[in-house]
Formats: sequence, C-alpha cells, structure tokens
Amino acid sequence: MRMKGYNVLFPMGFHYTGTPILAMSKRVIAEDQDLIGTFKNLYNVPENIIKSFREPKNIAKFFHNEIKLGMQDMGYSIDWRREFTTIDTLYSKFITWQFKTLQKKGLIVQGSHPVGWCPYDKNPVSQHDTIGDVEPEFSEYVLIKFRLADNNIILPTATLRPETIFGVTNLWVNPDIEYLIIDVDNNAEQWIVTKEASTKLEFLNHSIKINRTLKGNELIGKFAIDTIRNIDIPILPAKFVKPDTGTGIVMSVPGHAPYDFQALIDLKKETNLHSFNIDLSQINPIKIIGIQEANLNGNSLISCVEDAISKFNINHQSDLGLEKATSEVYHLEYYQGKMLPNTGKYSGLDVQLAKEEIKNYLLSTKNLAEIFYEFINKPIKCRCGNECVVKLLNDQWFINYRDKEWKHKVHNYIDELSIIPEDLRQEFHNVVDWLKERACARKSGLGTKLPWDHEWIIESLSDSVIYMAYYIISKFINEQKYSMKKSLNNINESFFDYILLGIGNVQDISKNCNLSISLIQEIRNEFIYFYPVDSRHSGRDLVPNHLSFFLFNHIAIFEKKFWPHQIVVNGSVLMEGKKMSKSLGNIIPLRRAIQDYGADTIRLAILISSELLQDADFSFDTARSIRIKLFEFYTLSQQILNSNFYNKVSNPNLSLDELLYLDISENEYSLQLEDRWLISKLQRLINNVTRSMETLRIREALHNILYVFDQHINWYKKRINAKKRSNDNMVNKILILCFSIRIKLLSPFAPFISEEIWNNLGSRSSIVASKWPTVFNEKIDPLSEESDEFIKRLTLDISNIIKVTKKLPHTIYIYCSSSGKQKIYQKILKIITLTNERNFGNIMKKLIQDPETSYAKTNPSFVKKTVEDILSESVESRNNRLNLNSLDEISIIKDSENLISNEIEFENIRINVYSEEEKDKFDPKSKSRFSRPYKPAIYLE
Ligand SMILES: [Zn+2]
Repeated sequence: MRMKGYNVLFPMGFHYTGTPILAMSKRVIAEDQDLIGTFKNLYNVPENIIKSFREPKNIAKFFHNEIKLGMQDMGYSIDWRREFTTIDTLYSKFITWQFKTLQKKGLIVQGSHPVGWCPYDKNPVSQHDTIGDVEPEFSEYVLIKFRLADNNIILPTATLRPETIFGVTNLWVNPDIEYLIIDVDNNAEQWIVTKEASTKLEFLNHSIKINRTLKGNELIGKFAIDTIRNIDIPILPAKFVKPDTGTGIVMSVPGHAPYDFQALIDLKKETNLHSFNIDLSQINPIKIIGIQEANLNGNSLISCVEDAISKFNINHQSDLGLEKATSEVYHLEYYQGKMLPNTGKYSGLDVQLAKEEIKNYLLSTKNLAEIFYEFINKPIKCRCGNECVVKLLNDQWFINYRDKEWKHKVHNYIDELSIIPEDLRQEFHNVVDWLKERACARKSGLGTKLPWDHEWIIESLSDSVIYMAYYIISKFINEQKYSMKKSLNNINESFFDYILLGIGNVQDISKNCNLSISLIQEIRNEFIYFYPVDSRHSGRDLVPNHLSFFLFNHIAIFEKKFWPHQIVVNGSVLMEGKKMSKSLGNIIPLRRAIQDYGADTIRLAILISSELLQDADFSFDTARSIRIKLFEFYTLSQQILNSNFYNKVSNPNLSLDELLYLDISENEYSLQLEDRWLISKLQRLINNVTRSMETLRIREALHNILYVFDQHINWYKKRINAKKRSNDNMVNKILILCFSIRIKLLSPFAPFISEEIWNNLGSRSSIVASKWPTVFNEKIDPLSEESDEFIKRLTLDISNIIKVTKKLPHTIYIYCSSSGKQKIYQKILKIITLTNERNFGNIMKKLIQDPETSYAKTNPSFVKKTVEDILSESVESRNNRLNLNSLDEISIIKDSENLISNEIEFENIRINVYSEEEKDKFDPKSKSRFSRPYKPAIYLE
C-alpha cells in the first residue's frame, strides 16, 4: 500500500496487562526449574536477569525488548515513535476514559453473573488466563429437586432438558461413590450431592454445611418423591453416573435418553441385584414413558431411542456409541419433537418451546428447582495450574454485550465491513448472538484500575479493544519536542473526549490539561487523518473475543466514520507440520532463526506456505530452496552490475523500470513478436500479483513472482536463441525490465535483498520509496500471446506425431486453414462469447441464417469440431482471439521455423507451410482439408 502511494501507518505496542506474567514471576520465585531452564537454554537469558524476573514487570520488559529487536531484525517498517505499553500512565488514563464512556452509555452493568474462575487466584479467567488458551464455556442447567420419601431430604438432579420430567421413571445413583448430606443456605434445606457438586454449589453462592457422608449404596432401593407429578419413583444403581458431572444424581428418562434406556436393560440382566438391596419386583414394573414424538414419522421417541440403540450396536451402558446415539436422538426431538398428551397443558407444544415454559414454571415455583452452571468444555485449567470452576460473581462489573440495541448495530456493521476471508462473516454474526455480560475486571495482575472501584483491575480482553486510537496520541507523549510529559498529571477525560470524539471546547481543555491549543489541535487533526483502522489482522482464536469486542467497542464509542474498515483473520505458524511447543522441543526463537537463515528467507519461507485460515508451515527444506532462489536473483543482479549495462541510467527522477519502458517505447519498431509476448506476460504478472495481494492471497502472489515467471523467461530465451538474438540490446533491456519489476514486486516480502539488488541494478534511490509497478493495458498483446500459444501447441502436435509414427522425418508440411474457415471460426466465436450459445444445432442455424457464412452447412463436421475447440479454450484466450479477428498463421510459423526444429530436436529438418487454399501445394495424403484455425494440419515425410 505504501508503494501504491498511501501514507501507511504501521505501529506497534506491548500488552502488559493481565495475570500470565504474574503467574510466571511466581514460578520464578518458587524456583521452578522447568521455567528457569527454558529462559536459560531456549532464550539465552543471563542468570542475573532471570533473578530480576521475581518482579513481573521485569519479565515483560525483557521480552518486550527481545520481541522489538526481533521485529527490527525481520525488517518490519514499524513507526516506533508510537510504541507504548498498556501500563503507561497516559494509556491508563485513556482506558479510564474508555470505561467512563461505556458507563455513561449504560453499557457497564453490575450484577450477579456466572464466570469462569480460578479458585486459587480468586480471579475470573478467560482465554488469556488458561493453559492451552481455552475460552471457558458453560451452560445453564436446571436443578430439579426430588425428595427422599423417608425424610424429605432433597435429591437434586441437573438437566439441560427440564421438559423431560414427565418421562422420569427412576433416579440413578452410583453405588460406589461417596455422597454428602449438606445443609444448604443456612439450614433452609438438606441436600444429598457428591463432594464435587457441593464445591460447585459453594461457588454458585450457596452456603454449605456438611452434615455427614454416605455411600451411594445406602440410597439404592429407596424411593424418591417426584413433587411435580406427585408420585414415588425408585432409586436405582448405575455406573455411568460420574461424581463430577452435575450433582452425581441423575434423573432417568429412558423414553428420551439412550443412556437411561440401556442402563435399565443392563439392570434387568444384573445377576447380583440383591447386593444392592433390590430385586426385579422393583425394576420390572417400570414402564418407559413417551413424552415427546418426533414429527418426522409420527413415531413416539421411545422407538427412536430403540432404533438408535440398535443402529449403533449398543449392548452396555459403558458403550462409547451411546454418545452418538444420544446426540442423534436429542437433535431429532429438539428440532422436530412435539409434546404428547400425557404432559398436560404442554401437550402439542414444540419441544423447544415446552422446554422454556417448563423451565420458567419450575424456577418460579417455590422449592421445585434452582439454576446451576457447569463447564461444557472442562477441564479448564488456569495458567497457575489449578482447575477452574464456574462462579456466580455478585456485585461484579460487567460489559453488557447482551444489550440488544448494541448487538443489532454490530450485526448491521458486520454486513458492511470487509472481512477476509469472507467465510468468517457468519462466524462473527454467531459470536454476536451468543455474547453475554462479560466480567471486565480482576483482583490481581497488571493494568488500569476500574475508575469507580479501585479494588479491581481492568482485564486484558477489555483494555485492548480500542488501543489502535492511542497510537495517534502516543507519538506526542513520546517525542520530546511536544513536551507533553510535563502535563501528564493534568490530562483528564476532557482531553480524550476532544481528540477522539470531537467533543468540548478546546480553550477549556487547553487550560484544564495544561496543553497548548495548537498541540491539542494537531493531535486531533492527526486522529482524523489516520483513523479509522483500515485493516486489523489477528488470529482465528480471537474471533470469539478480541476481534468481536474490537467491533463492539468501536461501534459504541466512536462516530461511524471511525469504525474499522477491514478485519483479516490468519492462522498460526507450524514448524515442519507440527504446532510449536516447548514439549516438542521445536521452538526456534525468531532472532536465532534470522541469524541462521536471514530475515528474507524466514519471511518468504513462512509466507509461501500461508493460506488465510490455515496455519503456515515453516520447513527447513523450503527455507533452503528459498535461499537458493534469492541467491540466484542476487547473482543475476551482480552480472547486470558488472556488465555496466546501465551506466547510462541518468535521469534521477525516473526509476529503472520507468527508464527501460521509455527506452523500449522509443525503439518500439524493433520489437519482435517474442518481445511483445514477454512484455505482455509481464503486465499479466503485475496484474495477478496486485489482485492476489488485494485479497491477501499471499502464497499465490509470491509463487507468481518467484517461480511462475521463470517459465516465461526460459521460453523467451529459447525463442531468442532460435533467432540468434542473444546479443541484441533490446533483448537485454527487456530481460532487465522484467527482472527489475519482479524485484519491485518482491520487495514488500523480502525487503533486504530487494534493496541490495535494486542498488546493483543501478538505481539511485531506495526501493522502499519506489512505486508499485503499473499495468499498461496497451502492452497486453493478444496477437503475441495467441501466436506464442499457437507455436507451442503446433510443436507439441508435431512431437506427438513423430512419437506415434516412430519415423524420423526430413520434411514437415504444415497446412493452415482457408480464409473461409477463418470467417466461420470468428462467427462461431462471436456467437459463443456474446450469446453464450453452446448448442451445435442452434449455432449451425445462426451460421446458415447469415448469408456471409451460410456455406458452413456444407461442412458440419468442421463446425462441430470448431465449437469443441472454442469451448475448450480459456476465457482469456477466447477474448484475445475475438479481438484479433484472425491470426496470420503462415508468417508466424515462418518466423518460428528454427524454434520448432530446436524444440522437436531435429536438426536440418525442413519446414514447408501452405495455405489450404493454395493450388500447387504438396499434399499427397489430402491432409489440408482437416486444417482448422489455430489447428493446422500436419504431414511428415
Ligand atoms: Zn489460577
């Protein structure tokens, strides 16, 4: 974009906020040898510096510097005047302003909401805080309260499908695990749950007092009261019940759940029932209750459960196929099911609707049910090593991403902005749909204090969503000449209101903040000049959080003209096909890789394997072959340098390629067909690379620059050799032109070597300051492209005939089609291109209707073959031929006689060319009548 004349701002900042650095410094204090070994051996951190890592900021500072040096080594053209960290004083003021602004707009809410939580750190956790960067996800369950018939103690069961209560036949308890009898919420109720469930309940703000423990076995054979239907159901044993799932007590709905269905079958086969204090008289009377039917075939779901059990060949409750059977049945009934008449007032309702109504009924009726949360992607581990839980946070501060109006605006904008790759647009919509309140503060870590509650620190996925705007301001605080630092303490929110929103009176702000009016004005102008962000690039794992919050916050805070224009999502970098990880020992620190291979090689080796959304795959083989290629380019540039060819480059206002173009145009009369062809191919190269880069198909662009064009150069060299033009000055100019354009195209990818080569080529200014090559449409030359294609095919056809006949010819006879055939060809080409007609009969009709081509009816097989010929051509080639009208095949062949004989590798072969119309042609086998335009007939002797 810079080469295209844009003033490109590429800044960089460092995100210090959050808990990971804190966790790392705790590990240093604890002398964790694994971590210290990594610092020492992988990153070569000196001993005394590692000691300083007991202070978290020192870790950040050290790696900040390493990363910055790495970026400089890589040759990123970053505007370092704008560098900042997220714990800088002015940045904190900026974040304070962001939060006060969100609060004014009513988007910060206080309340009780569930969050992922580390019990050790006593902090909410999100993706940045977990091992493996997992975003904690949890679901809202309904805890339905059954009661022991003996003594009214509550047996809570967790379910996502409360509408199935009408089909409950029994409860499942694992006889082998331990349960607790607990007093819940200051003796209000007594519950039986597992120890794990008791812990979870505490984090959901229930007060818990443990009464005593009991073995699951003690419960089996007893009866529970279902207070909703007012019936007694037996408590039965099942091994699939896990202590850490739900409450450890499961309601059994065999008419809905394949697990329950199979567990009942297993129980009936159990020979050892008496050891559980039960017998078949308790089990046999259980009747499976259908409560839903699937619309699909009018069957009750019981038969669907049965079908699924037999389909997946299940014969025991520990069978892994049960997962699949379950998801199939659940999906079917949830999306197509209706409630049966035995569900009372819910009869006939769609299952989805019944689920919500029954949930509301249960939760609004006293003592029937409670809400319960559980991770759906557990275990989630905090970076400190402890397992996380779902915690119901009271009086905590949240950003309300649930806000309907806000969501609506973001949805609309997602339809407008550019998203690359396009496939991700729907994913963004989905994220916006499910986002809810998000905890925005932590008790520990680095960062900015919540402005109205200083016990809390704004967390890392909330203080990093509009930082791009701060790059404008950071330049002014960093650069001494603006002397802004002395006013640091005076700067308040009114400053940011004016700079970023244009609100307020500049005289007042100047007084308030102790800054000159002109400085404030300059910062505001620069903000207007650069903002919005034109292109935001980030990883795919940040779509559900950072990139979505980035949109939400910009849309909430800024005017529409400052909303981001584009989001680009990329993958990560793999090493020889594997994820880089410490345990695989395949991490190479960037700076070391650059020392070993050179920055350009590393850059290209990564880019040439990268496709958007896919991970780039770095391999040493690729790096080596890239190095060879770059060296080849370099050697070529030295040869040109030594030949003193461009000592004559004299006009400092023009770049090398511009001079060459000028020079070539002045001598245009001496250009031959192959010269025009190569210059034409060069325009196509520039066009293709430019288009690939616009949609960030980087791999494709690079492949075209480095490799595809080599094939054209090699072919061009064959053509000039056949004409003995190697010493032709024009040829050299054209080759150097192509080379210089390729180097320009390469320079954004490989800046160092491109600069060196550019200099070798005799250029006096830096390639960084050069212009992106222009496509000259008038230099795209259909005639030279089609005649080149024509010669290549003719040569191939001749070689094939020689191969088939296995005879060595001394003369090749070539017959080019008559002008009558050419007229019909052009007419058919026009019909196909302009009317998209492909049917032979219709095309023939049109030919006959036109008196100029009516004679086509005498040669239907020619018309048929010609239609096939044209349809097999590329659209580009068809357009070329349409523009050309017809090709002078005879003179093209005569121009390339040497080339043809070189290519078929027969020396001293004679080539005779005739037109089909010629009267005294040599045509012993009457081959000429088979000739077609672009496909001459061939006879060998
Ligand atoms: Zn933790």
